[in-house]
Amino acid sequence: MRKKCPCGEMMTMKLRTVIYSGKVEIDNVPIFSCTSCKRSEVIPEVKPDLTGLIAKLGADPSKGTLLFNECNEWADLLVEAKVNKCQPNTVEVQALIEQRINMLLDMYLLAQTLNDEAWIVDLNKRLQQISGKSLYTYSLTR
Ligand SMILES: [Zn+2]
Repeated sequence: MRKKCPCGEMMTMKLRTVIYSGKVEIDNVPIFSCTSCKRSEVIPEVKPDLTGLIAKLGADPSKGTLLFNECNEWADLLVEAKVNKCQPNTVEVQALIEQRINMLLDMYLLAQTLNDEAWIVDLNKRLQQISGKSLYTYSLTR
């Protein structure tokens, strides 16, 4: 969860508002930023979701604000870490990740019991976002 900047300093993880097309504000996008040279980049884990969101908005979006944490587990977790005043890049955040994965797995068991396909698909997506692994990998190894 840490990254070395090309300038040699360590980058820290932050949430930032990204403005797309000068019209749409996308809040709570997790980025790496360097305090030394001011370089910043979107963290690789959320890139596919962010590009997907932008693609959905299209070339001429209407003015508005979106909460990125509503469509990405990573962003949501970092918002939670911020609310709990956890320092980024610490074991506390790691613990939150573990907690979140367990919560999603518990919900998955419930969704399976209820045979709720749409929910299962959604949970699978969220789990993949945060762990890079599919739910099915988990259910096999659990
Ligand atoms: Zn730098």
